[in-house]
Amino acid sequence: MTNLDNLYREIIMEHYKNPRNKGLLDDPRYTKIRIKNPSCGDDITVQTLVEDGIIKDCRQEATGCSISVASASVLTEIMMNKPVSEAIKLAENFLNMVSNKEYDETLDLEEAEVFGGVKQFPARIKCASIAWVAFKDTLDKE
Ligand code: ZN
Repeated sequence: MTNLDNLYREIIMEHYKNPRNKGLLDDPRYTKIRIKNPSCGDDITVQTLVEDGIIKDCRQEATGCSISVASASVLTEIMMNKPVSEAIKLAENFLNMVSNKEYDETLDLEEAEVFGGVKQFPARIKCASIAWVAFKDTLDKE
């Protein structure tokens, strides 16, 4: 983490300490996906509620390293009230960005741009990606 920009690091730590939209709901209208990353103990569940093609709610329950927990928190904030088609595009773009693949820099990833530096640390790419993969999977299950 030492090579990451300090501001980015601060944002990640802030989300790690105060995760947004944390806690799952026992509500059958929600779709839930859980993904674990055994290599560093990350355990992430993402829950979405879609109505009329809009993500009405996005929740998470995450334990693990700071990158995976912060990434889940940032995800829920960004996806709230987004149309499903736009949300999928953003998630794919994020996953390409952190895995050092070509991505569309004109798409606004908002605070999630802080994870752009993760590509320099191949071992952490999975940490940053888990919540976003789980999120996409909840939409596929709709
Ligand atoms: Zn991790």
